[in-house]
Amino acid sequence: MGVKCPYCSTSNTKVIDSRINQTADITRRRRKCPQCDARFTTYERVEELMPVVIKKDGRREPFSRDKVIGGLKMAFLKRPVETAQVEFITRKIEKSIQGFGLKEIPSQTIGKMLMTEIHDIDQVAYVRFASVYKKFKDVEDFVKDIKKRPRPLTQPESLSFSFISKEPEKDSRENS
Ligand SMILES: [Zn+2]
Repeated sequence: MGVKCPYCSTSNTKVIDSRINQTADITRRRRKCPQCDARFTTYERVEELMPVVIKKDGRREPFSRDKVIGGLKMAFLKRPVETAQVEFITRKIEKSIQGFGLKEIPSQTIGKMLMTEIHDIDQVAYVRFASVYKKFKDVEDFVKDIKKRPRPLTQPESLSFSFISKEPEKDSRENS
């Protein structure tokens, strides 16, 4: 993350809690220093929080909201899904990604997150999206896969730390 501990200057401080203030677009993060055990809080602007996307071929590109919306629109084409719902999912995905607090995120991780969201809304759209975003060995594999709901992705696999505390219920409503 590169956020230094203000007490001992250790650079690999860990995020233990993230809260996004939707109206101000500011994320408040509780951090813990593994070196001296100090706890402190950082406030980060949303635009600084979107990680760089690592594409399948290893190239990097800036996170693109338009690409997320484009993927969703492709999946929901001619399906009974409102534009507002596409906006809602996009915002949700963005917030989740910001919550990870990563500098880089694989495009496949974003694809998996989208799949989970789409699956909960429309099966047809899910199959459509999955067939584009996943590589299947054969048809049987594909059918098996679409029958089970994708595991909700709470954090990318590459994340080396785990969240110690989760947001209490009351705080998630705090800013809405
Ligand atoms: Zn420290």
